[in-house]
Order: sequence, then C-alpha cells, then structure tokens
Amino acid sequence: MTDKMWGGEPFWGLGYDWDPDWVYTDKQKELRATLIELCEKELRANAKRFDDELMFPRRNLELLGEHGFLALTVPEGYGGLGENHVAYSMVCETIARYGCASTAMCYVMHMGAVNAIMLRATPELIDKYIRPLNSGKIGTLSYSDPETGSHFWYPISSGAERSNGGFKVRKKASWTTSGGFADFYVVQTTSPDFSGYDDLSVFVVDGEHIQAQPSLWDALGLRGNQSGPIEIDNIEIPAEQLVGPTGDGANSNDESVDPWFLVGSASVWNGLALGAIDIAKRHTTRKKHVDVGLRVADYPTIQDYVGEAVMDTNASRLFTLSVAQAMDGATENNTVNPGPGELARGNFLHWAWQIKFEAAKNTAHVVDKMLHACGGSGYKRDMELERYLRDAKAGWVMGPTNEVLRQFVGKAVLLGFDSLDYWNQSYNRRAVENEVKKLDAAGKRELAEQLFKEADEQASKEPAAKG
Ligand SMILES: Cc1cc2nc3c(=O)[nH]c(=O)nc-3n(C[C@H](O)[C@H](O)[C@H](O)COP(=O)(O)OP(=O)(O)OC[C@H]3O[C@@H](n4cnc5c(N)ncnc54)[C@H](O)[C@@H]3O)c2cc1C
Repeated sequence: MTDKMWGGEPFWGLGYDWDPDWVYTDKQKELRATLIELCEKELRANAKRFDDELMFPRRNLELLGEHGFLALTVPEGYGGLGENHVAYSMVCETIARYGCASTAMCYVMHMGAVNAIMLRATPELIDKYIRPLNSGKIGTLSYSDPETGSHFWYPISSGAERSNGGFKVRKKASWTTSGGFADFYVVQTTSPDFSGYDDLSVFVVDGEHIQAQPSLWDALGLRGNQSGPIEIDNIEIPAEQLVGPTGDGANSNDESVDPWFLVGSASVWNGLALGAIDIAKRHTTRKKHVDVGLRVADYPTIQDYVGEAVMDTNASRLFTLSVAQAMDGATENNTVNPGPGELARGNFLHWAWQIKFEAAKNTAHVVDKMLHACGGSGYKRDMELERYLRDAKAGWVMGPTNEVLRQFVGKAVLLGFDSLDYWNQSYNRRAVENEVKKLDAAGKRELAEQLFKEADEQASKEPAAKG
C-alpha cells in the first residue's frame, strides 16, 4: 500500500490502512489523491480564514471546479466526470476531513442542486446550468421554510403561478447554504395549480433574482457556509426553468434531493470525525510528559478513546458507502434516472435516513472524545480541533434533524410507512377519540357545535357533488 502523503511528507494522521479502499475504483483513488493534494496546498489553510472571517469559501469551490469536481456526477458527455454515488461520498468525506467543512457543505448543496436538475435534465437546463459548471458556477438547494423549521418538505411561505408562458415564483427560505453567493438556486414551492401541500414543484432560479442578507449569518460552526435567509419575491422565470413536470416535487425529493443530500451530508460528518481523529493522532503522538517519560498516546486510556472512535467511525463510513453502492446498483452506476413517479435511489431512502442519523450522532461524540484525548491543548484554537468540533455539531441539527430521523425510522418500523404523514393528511382517530373521552357532556356538545359550523363552511367551499 502506498503512503498517504501530506505535501512532501508522510501524512501525520491515519494512513490508507484505515481507509476502506476496496470499495473505490482506481479512478476514485486518483481523485482522492488529487483532493488531498488540493487540501494540503490550499483548502485547509483557507478553512481557517473562512471560519475566522465568516467568509464564503468561493476560492475553495473554484479550485474544486478547476479539477472537475463541481460536475463530479454529471455524465462525461456534458463535461462532467461521470462518477457515481460512492465517488460522491468519498469526495464529500475527503473535503471535510482534510480540507474545509464549510466548503464540503456548500459542495453537498451544490451537488444536490445539480442532481435535482439532472433527474429531469432538458437540453435548455443542461446548456444553461450543467455545461458551465467547471467554470466555477455554484448551485444550491433552498427548501427550509421559516414557518415549518426543519420540516423542509412543507413549504408554506412559497408558491408559483403561471404567467406570460412561464411562471411567477415566490419563496421565503429561512436557511440556504451559499445564500446570496450561489449562481443558481433549486427551490421547491407549492405547485401553480396547488391542490394541497403534497403538490409541490421544483424550479431553478438565477442568483440575480435572490434577495439575501449574508451579513445575518453568524453561527457556532460551518461559518463559511453562509446559510442565511433568502427571498424570491414573485419573480418571473421562463417555462424551461421548471424542473420536471408540475407536481413533481415529492418525487424529486424522494428520488434525488434527499438521497443525494443524505449520502453527502453523512459523508461530511464521517469526514469530520476522521479529521478529528487525525488531529488527535498528531498531537498525542508528539506531546510528551517528561515526569513519566511517556507520550500522551502511550496511555491506554488515550488508545481506548482512539480505538473506539476509529471503529465507530469506520462502521458509519461503511454503512454510508454501502447505501451509496445500493444507489449505484439501482441506477446502473448513476447512468440511468427513473421517470416521474418512479423510484430507484428513493427505494433506499429509509436506509439513507439511517446513515445520516448514525454519522451525525457519531461525529458529535467523536469530536468530544478527541478533545478529551488532547486535553487543554485541544481546546485552544491553534490545534484546529475546536473548529472540527464546532463544525461537527451542525450534523445533528441540520434537517432532517436526528430527532425527526429516529422518529421516522421508529414510527415506520412500528406503524408502517404511511403513518409518517409528511403533509399532515391522515386523521388520527385513536388520538381524537381519546381526547374527546376527557370532555363532559357540555364540552362534547360545544365541540360538536364547532365541528358542525366548520363542516358547513367547508362544504360551502367544496365543489357540489354530482348525481
Ligand atoms: C449549517 C446549516 C446549514 C443549512 N443549510 C440549509 C440549506 O442549504 N438549505 C435548506 O433548505 N436548509 C438548510 N438548513 C436548515 C436545516 O435543514 C433545518 O431546517 C434547520 O436546521 C432547522 O432549524 P430550526 O431551528 O427551524 O429547527 P426546528 O425545526 O424548530 O427544530 C427544533 C427542535 O425540534 C425538533 N423537532 C422538529 N420536528 C420534530 C418532530 N416532528 N418530532 C420530534 N422533534 C422534532 C428538532 O429535531 C429540534 O430538536 C441548514 C441548517 C444548518 C444548521
């Protein structure tokens, strides 16, 4: 096995022996070597500046573009590297581990936007958004809504209507990575012929139409990622910038946005855990206690910390890579996309929920343990560990949050997938009847009168029944 290099020297963290190289192709290993080199030369040094100065990681993203990574999963015929889900996982992990987590998260959102377009690619969308990618064009996903928090699939403050042969789109987003900096925004709104919150459509909107206030962004970690609020204020866009048919939003989420986001973000959290372990190895093998003649790494307690962190993180990595492989299998190595209403990657969505949960949980724990292993020195900013710690804490709270994910999985296992009821459509008779039982006769009457009144109002708005 070749040595992992860091510039002209052997890498000071974990070597290739601890990377699951049997899952990567030779081309993917070459891409990884290129990325590690870019991280050593520039991305990692920039990460400190982006974090200190709350700066958008444009320079790092440009560098990724120069080497083809901004079009990683785009077919070669359209100027991309023609890579698959495993490569995507490796790239997200590698940027976060050796380089810059803010860059890695902007990259995840960028690739999310690119892949949402590629799911329903048209010649117009390809010419305008896909072919120019390697010139440094950045996209992002804008889904989260101020009214519904982390329930990003429920865009209340948004809408679209048909106008002049195209669409008029409005959107308020509480968080958008690269907000105000990206060149194009893939957004989800309710459909032009809105029939309920499961009737969603996807549009791509150019950066010039976005109102953003990057100065409002200030956060514990991922400080370069500039995930501030944005607004699209009834902007006219041409019909070609509808991505897929109207009403395709839910299917686009299940087949593209969620699978790519969950694989990419899980890989970023795995990368941050590995990066923290790398730093702990560097520090604990170099720091000596002269009184006992031992290095910090010689204490069994520290060896236990590192051993457990490596095993837990590699379990999470291999879990992520295995789900990425399943998606590769379902899409003939990311060369085939299913049509509207059909699923390929989406059949593994309940697995993708699990990998994000595990990776975010693991990284939050591992960064704490690596801080404990490094002691007070790790608490100081110069060792970089504290940046990894702050960046890693975003994993748990980013939507779908880990609270939501564990409930999705537990509820789906116990009560079936239909019970998830994303758009608040199914009536929980059991809960209602239990609450009604608590009312006395007067309370029941009052409720009944209220319900009759509401039913009359509703019936007057519904189309008259035929026959
Ligand atoms: C660094 C960063 C970057 C981001 N980038 C983007 C982006 O590019 N695009 C985008 O669209 N969004 C983005 N987001 C937003 C993200 O996806 C979430 O929408 C956001 O973190 C939710 O924050 P909130 O305060 O609204 O949480 P809330 O939804 O208010 O959650 C508060 C608490 O309630 C819990 N909770 C919520 N619902 C349930 C439930 N049903 N059951 C149990 N508990 C529940 C949550 O888990 C959490 O503990 C980003 C967030 C961060 C932190």
